[in-house]
Formats: sequence, C-alpha cells, structure tokens
Amino acid sequence: MPTTVNAYGTFEAGAALQPLSIDRRDVGPHDVQLDILYCGICHSDIHFASGDFGPLPVSPLVPGHEIVGVVTATGEAVTKHRVGDRVGIGCMVDSCRECENCVAGQEQYCLNGHTLVFGSPDRDGTFTQGGYSEMIVANEDFVVRVPEALDPAAAAPLLCAGITVYAPLKRWGAGPGTRVAVVGLGGLGHVGVKMAKAMGAEVTVLSRSESKREAALELGADDYAATGDPETFAKLANRFHIVLNTVSAPIDVNAYLGLLRIGGTLASVGVTTEPLPLDAFALMNNGRNIAGSQFAGIRETQEMLDFCAEHGVVADIELTAADGINDAYRRVLSSDVRYRFVIDNATLAN
Ligand code: NAP
Ligand code: ZN
Ligand code: ZN
Repeated sequence: MPTTVNAYGTFEAGAALQPLSIDRRDVGPHDVQLDILYCGICHSDIHFASGDFGPLPVSPLVPGHEIVGVVTATGEAVTKHRVGDRVGIGCMVDSCRECENCVAGQEQYCLNGHTLVFGSPDRDGTFTQGGYSEMIVANEDFVVRVPEALDPAAAAPLLCAGITVYAPLKRWGAGPGTRVAVVGLGGLGHVGVKMAKAMGAEVTVLSRSESKREAALELGADDYAATGDPETFAKLANRFHIVLNTVSAPIDVNAYLGLLRIGGTLASVGVTTEPLPLDAFALMNNGRNIAGSQFAGIRETQEMLDFCAEHGVVADIELTAADGINDAYRRVLSSDVRYRFVIDNATLAN
C-alpha cells in the first residue's frame, strides 16, 4: 500500500504552487525511506515549474532536488544506510548502472537516460516526485551520507548547487595558483566562490552591478567586478584559468571567453534554452575551451559532501515555510535572495 504524504506542487506550468498530496511507494528490498527535513529551492525547480523547459512532464509536479532527511526505514537488502542516518538525495534517483557512463560513475550522463528525482518516469510506471514533500522512498545507491559536521539545512543546497559547481571546478583544475571567475552570485555562484576558495584558487566574482560587492568579499572572494561596466571586460582580459558561468539567462559567451588566459575554460552550468552565438576567434585565441557540466555522479557527490565537511563549506540560506514557496520563487527571479531558500519541511505537516 503506497503512503500518502503532504507536498507542495503545481498542476499547471506557470501556476502558483499549492498544497497537495502524493503517494510514495512501499519500501522495496533496495529502497531507503526518509523523512525530509529540508529541501533547497534551486532555480531549476523554477525553470521546470514555470514551463521554461516545456510543458510539465506530469501534473501535478512536485519539485525539489536538494533533499536532506533522516532514514526511517530500509529494505531487507539495503547495506549502505541505516535507520537514523542523516542522508541526502540530489538530482537523480536512478540510472541503468550498466552503460559505459554509469560504470564510470557518471550516472548523470547515463546513455539510457537517468531518472530525475522529480518529473521522470520511474521503473514502476509512475512519475517521480521531488523534495517539497514530507517523505521520499529511493534506491539506496542514489542516497548519499550527509556528514554530521554539516548543518542539515545549510547542507541541503549542496545536493545540487554544491555538486554542480564542485564538479567543473575540480575537472578544470581549480586550486592553488589558479584564478577562477564566478559569473552570477546566486545559489550556485555563492557556493562556487566558497568551493573554489576551499580548493585554494584566487576567486573573482562577476556580478551584474556593484550591489553585491561587499557581500561577495565577505563570502571570501578576492576580487569583484560588475559586468554591467564595459571596462570590466577590458580590464580582466586574458586573466582566468576558469570562468564558471552560473547565470540563469543567456550570456554573451564571447565576452566571457575573452577573459580566459591561454588554455582556459569557460565552464557553463547555467541553463538557457536559447542558442548562444559563438565567435570562432574568441574561442581560437589563447586556445580556449568551452565546456558544459551537469550536476555529477553519486560517487563524486559523496566526495563533495566530505570535502565540504572537511572545509566547512555550506550554503548561506534563508529558511522558509512551505507556504512561503511562491514568494521565494518570486524573490529568486528578482535575485533577491542571499543566497538560497531552503524549505523547512516540518511545515508541510498539518
Ligand atoms: P539563482 O540563484 O537565481 O542565480 C542566478 C544568478 O544569475 C543570479 O543571482 C544573477 O546573479 C544572475 N542572473 C540572473 N538573471 C540574469 C540575467 N538576466 N542576466 C545576467 N545575469 C543574471 O539560480 P541558481 O539556482 O544558482 O541556478 C543558476 C542556473 O544554473 C539556473 O539556470 C539553473 O537552472 C542552472 N543549474 C544547472 C545545473 C546543472 O547541472 N548544469 C544544476 C543546477 C542549476 P547576479 O545578480 O550576481 O548578476
Ligand atoms: Zn538544481
Ligand atoms: Zn547508464
């Protein structure tokens, strides 16, 4: 018998989110059930719920993919987690586990298609539903350990924002002696600053205006420049080893390529559905690279959480009750959040 739980979701793309209930499956032999304590609000939730990526994959849709909870039940074959453990679930809850990419620990690039934590067809024919809910059941292989050293609410955004910036920073060699520019000081961007600093890089924040200068320096950034000032692109030309783009809108990629030193990489994780025009000369000059990155595999997600516990990296959050979700969405869209909303899932109980 499935269990009915309280959740917050939307029946129509672009409509306000509302309280509703969803069913969670019984705990299978390889499943872990968790009570959700906290769930971050990522801009990708907003893209999905507002229809930026097309019609809703399922109605209702319950977003949420930055989940921290406590294990309340385990299937008989589960070996990785125990009742009472503090655990997390991020963007994915399944993949084929057999293809070349899954075997390499890159389940996010599963050649047979990964299963997102919400809005994806699941193996039992139902659609997955996300973390704006009281409880979730997922396969143990896609559940990670959240170190006790991390505050559970502030750790929730690490499950997407954290891993999405950690993976490209590591892949492209952020570390002592490298200069990293983080473009966009939002949920992903602010964790990117902390992560790159913890890796030992020199970090510059590139934000649209001067308004976040002081806050960026407080986060640990070494330098700051406003991209609204055309001087910025001349002043910082040929400077960075990595430019990490976390902007939730189209950017002038050619202008940002110009900031890369020889062999540097523009690592793009911000999502836009519009094509980006690419100037061959901006790419050719300095032998520059442009790369994408989509969250990361489970092994690397665990590695990232352990790295954060070691270096004391968590998100700066504003806690909200479930009935504040729509307001939180509005504030994220107007960049009025420092820097991540996290839902207190206890407020879903009624
Ligand atoms: P966010 O908190 O809203 O931050 C986005 C930042 O982008 C804003 O703070 C703002 O920074 C800048 N920005 C927003 N609109 C802009 C515009 N029109 N022009 C220029 N800059 C603008 O969002 P987030 O949760 O960090 O997510 C960022 C993006 O990454 C989203 O598109 C999300 O879907 C995507 N994402 C991708 C992955 C992946 O796997 N690749 C994973 C998670 C999220 P300033 O105010 O500092 O300019
Ligand atoms: Zn996300
Ligand atoms: Zn696969």
